[in-house]
Amino acid sequence: MIVVAHEDDHAFELDEAALERILLQEHVRDLNVVVVSVAGAFRKGKSFLLDFMLRFMYNKMSSSWLGGHEEPLTGFTWRGGCERETTGILAWSEVFVVDKPDGSKVAVLLIDTQGAFDSQSTIKDCATLFALSTMTSSVQVYNLSQNVQEDDLQHLQVCVLVCITLMFLIRDWSYPYEHPYGLEGGKSFLEKRLQVKQNQHEELQNVRKHIHSCFSNIGCFLLPHPGLKVATNPNFDGRLADIDDDFKMELVSLVPILLSPENLVEKEIGGSKVTCRDLVQYFKAYMKIYQG
Ligand code: GDP
Ligand code: MG
Repeated sequence: MIVVAHEDDHAFELDEAALERILLQEHVRDLNVVVVSVAGAFRKGKSFLLDFMLRFMYNKMSSSWLGGHEEPLTGFTWRGGCERETTGILAWSEVFVVDKPDGSKVAVLLIDTQGAFDSQSTIKDCATLFALSTMTSSVQVYNLSQNVQEDDLQHLQVCVLVCITLMFLIRDWSYPYEHPYGLEGGKSFLEKRLQVKQNQHEELQNVRKHIHSCFSNIGCFLLPHPGLKVATNPNFDGRLADIDDDFKMELVSLVPILLSPENLVEKEIGGSKVTCRDLVQYFKAYMKIYQG
């Protein structure tokens, strides 16, 4: 956990030691950094997805990165039930060194941004957390369930211009006949959802204009439901055998879009690329700003 949100007094705390332990490791600290973040509310399958992203990072040389049929899924802890977890930003402790097709080496950091979108008092904290992880990442995957609601867009209001990719990831998409699963379907769905219309309430128009002006690139990916065992069986351990084929098929297309070497985007701030060492400083600076 690199940033912990304390709900009682709405304060954020940066664990500088943890951040430095991860980013100042000798073999990565001077490499340009790629930060892939998955953000959203509790219990929407973020950790589950991140664990597949880890599998991709650990097994990427093989085409069977998805893993063995009966192999339990490990990594970021994920689980069923409705217990709340800590809000904050979690980083995977291993930074991956990847060779890009142009011969350069980059360091890839995976982070999980978990907010509480559930009560009025925590919405502002959550927006702050979201802004913090957005400012420090190269790709922000905004993990949402079933659809994009007006509230979900409101959370993006606090973002300022950042040259990053915002990727809406819609879980349990259930209208594949209207917009097919995957990136293409996501694109047509999002275009419709983010359209600024004349007859729309001004506030709704403004949210949309703001989002368009904030991110250098906006995408959307529609993921199918993973099946009842994943969603409801308390003994499910993440094995592929229990996951619907449709879901696995889309996962195989989604994860490389985010993580394959040719798609990795190095973090830039103010037009310059940022190393792991620089990122530590930016984290500290942004924390100060958002702590107000
Ligand atoms: P997180 O709190 O967002 O990190 O969610 P988790 O990854 O811990 O998953 C919460 C629960 O949702 C677990 O029981 C998962 O098996 C289940 N789950 C994972 N992915 C999906 C999905 O795409 N759809 C549904 N309906 N459930 C999922
Ligand atoms: Mg989680």
